[in-house]
Amino acid sequence: MKLKNLEMTLQRLAGFSRPRAVLEQYQTPAPLAARLLYHALMKGDIEGKRVCDLGSGTGVLAIGASLLGAESVTGIEIDDRAIEVARRNATMLETDVEFISADVKDGGLPGRAGACDTVVMNPPFGAQKAHADRPFIDLALRLAPVTYGIFNAGSTSFVKTYTEGRGEIAERVGGSFPIKRTFAFHTKDVQEIEVEILRLIRIP
Ligand code: SAH
Repeated sequence: MKLKNLEMTLQRLAGFSRPRAVLEQYQTPAPLAARLLYHALMKGDIEGKRVCDLGSGTGVLAIGASLLGAESVTGIEIDDRAIEVARRNATMLETDVEFISADVKDGGLPGRAGACDTVVMNPPFGAQKAHADRPFIDLALRLAPVTYGIFNAGSTSFVKTYTEGRGEIAERVGGSFPIKRTFAFHTKDVQEIEVEILRLIRIP
């Protein structure tokens, strides 16, 4: 599937029906999701791989990975309402993705989530709850040797320090994340947030 095709397909997915600010529920816009996934595909980290999506929300990254030929895909998400939407999205696009209801802060994860080759994630940026992204980074490094994550622009130095001795940032790709007016505290119709996609390699 071509990049443009993937983007158009992901555009069709339903979003959060009643997004929850405290969980920082923002669906990754299709162009940004497609960009992350395509980049990972070109690096050989998607096709034939076991992919896990941490905080999978309505499933855009997980479903995209499946469309690009992942061997299996597992989404881990704390909000059951988001999981329902994600399952409907996966069915609509005839993809086979397992969505597991779990908190990334919990130790043991059931089934396939125990082992993945590649993690993809758009974790909370910590705007509502400081350091909300830390357990995502911790779990990603535990689960897989390679992780692609979307972070606030300027997070590189934090991620570098935080993962010291455990992981290494192998690549950084800039991007932007248009956030539509979603919550009462949003003052603009659309707010462009600068982000960066980081490719993190686990230090064995
Ligand atoms: N990956 C999706 C959603 C990103 S928003 C996408 O790219 O569109 C971040 C997601 O993380 C939300 O769905 C939120 O419910 C989930 N989340 C927040 N804290 C979590 C936690 N502790 N454990 C699991 N999921 C969590």
